[in-house]
Amino acid sequence: MPRAKKALGQNFLTDGRVVGKITAAAEIYSDDTILEVGPGRGILTRALASKAGKVITVEIDEQLIPSLYEKFSDHTNVEIVQGDARAISIDKLIPAEDRYKVVANLPYYAASPIVRRFLEADHKPTLMVVMVQREVGLDMTAKPGKMGILSVATQVYGNPRIITSVPPRSFRPSPKVTSAVVKIDLYDKPLVPFMSPDGFFELVRAGFSAPRKQIHNNLRHRLNTNPDVIGELLAQAKIDPKRRAQTLSITEWGTLYELSIPLLDQ
Ligand code: SAM
Repeated sequence: MPRAKKALGQNFLTDGRVVGKITAAAEIYSDDTILEVGPGRGILTRALASKAGKVITVEIDEQLIPSLYEKFSDHTNVEIVQGDARAISIDKLIPAEDRYKVVANLPYYAASPIVRRFLEADHKPTLMVVMVQREVGLDMTAKPGKMGILSVATQVYGNPRIITSVPPRSFRPSPKVTSAVVKIDLYDKPLVPFMSPDGFFELVRAGFSAPRKQIHNNLRHRLNTNPDVIGELLAQAKIDPKRRAQTLSITEWGTLYELSIPLLDQ
């Protein structure tokens, strides 16, 4: 068995109860297609394969692939793919019209980009159940007052909840941090009706560019517009210009976005 690679976030689950909580949260039916990221040594893959119609599992580490083939040689419903979940084409794995769920114990180093990749994809999953560092889980589920870019990026697409916290002793090797299992039920359509997410996230990034500064300052500098235009925009959106980006709700970001469209490069 190859040694665990820290750089690839290889903290393997060893606690069967946590595996049970992840699969229960995913509400798996026998006709479900599951896309797993990072099967590692296959503990979660095996549990998923016992419930789902099909499991497609994408592992970046070539050295883990032969033992995964061996472990699942008698499972006709498991497809093992070597690749990087941040770059792989979802439509090459799952036909565009098929529904699927993402279930994964994610590598810490790439958890946010992998979650965002699936949320922002044209072909989105209906549900995601992911293990992430607890702070990342708190960020995804934060309420106005404590929101960050990841909170907006998650909540515009779905309703995230923390299912359980998971201590370091549930993994080998043990990570230094506590983890959390987060379940995201995706909406049929994003809460903000943008044509493409690029302009919306340009605005959100501008709002959060200096998180301690008031929103009117950040928008003015990043959108390169004069203070009167930004003042008028915020007044129309009924947002106090002295507020900070972390206090805005998704609905307020949506209103601000609609009014800002002429100022954004999209
Ligand atoms: N699912 C296994 C478990 O629960 O024990 C392993 C989870 S471990 C936290 C993360 C896994 O993701 C590792 O097997 C690692 O090699 C793999 N991985 C890391 N980066 C990846 C990426 N960009 N794309 C796909 N897999 C990745």
